[in-house]
Amino acid sequence: MDNCLFCKIIRGEIPSTKVYEDENVFAFRDINPQAPVHVLVVPKKHYKNVSECAAADPALAGEILKKCAQIAQSEGLLGGFRLITNNGPDACQSVEHMHVHILGGAKLTDKMG
Ligand code: 5GP
Ligand code: ZN
Repeated sequence: MDNCLFCKIIRGEIPSTKVYEDENVFAFRDINPQAPVHVLVVPKKHYKNVSECAAADPALAGEILKKCAQIAQSEGLLGGFRLITNNGPDACQSVEHMHVHILGGAKLTDKMG
């Protein structure tokens, strides 16, 4: 996707602080962190949200969850972490390239919405 912000980050056209990369997955620090650790985990292939990704490639959707757990461990989030994926306008999804937020590094609020 030529004009997608996260596709540009994956291609290195927009700088980011990379946390992890492999054949299918890219992870980088959120520019506006909502917790001491705030990492975005994205598929390299463009899907607009988790609904689209899970329908088209459920194995990739599962792989992203596995990588989220591995990245949380490598970030030292031994006390726990939260995964969030905003899907569509009611969830205030602002970038239409599927991404999972990893939040942690402190006790998080018990309010999720
Ligand atoms: P959403 O609201 O779509 O769930 O999350 C989009 C996230 O992308 C937000 O947390 C926002 O701070 C982050 N973001 C937006 N633009 C950039 C950018 O250029 N670089 C990085 N690293 N994160 C960004
Ligand atoms: Zn994209």
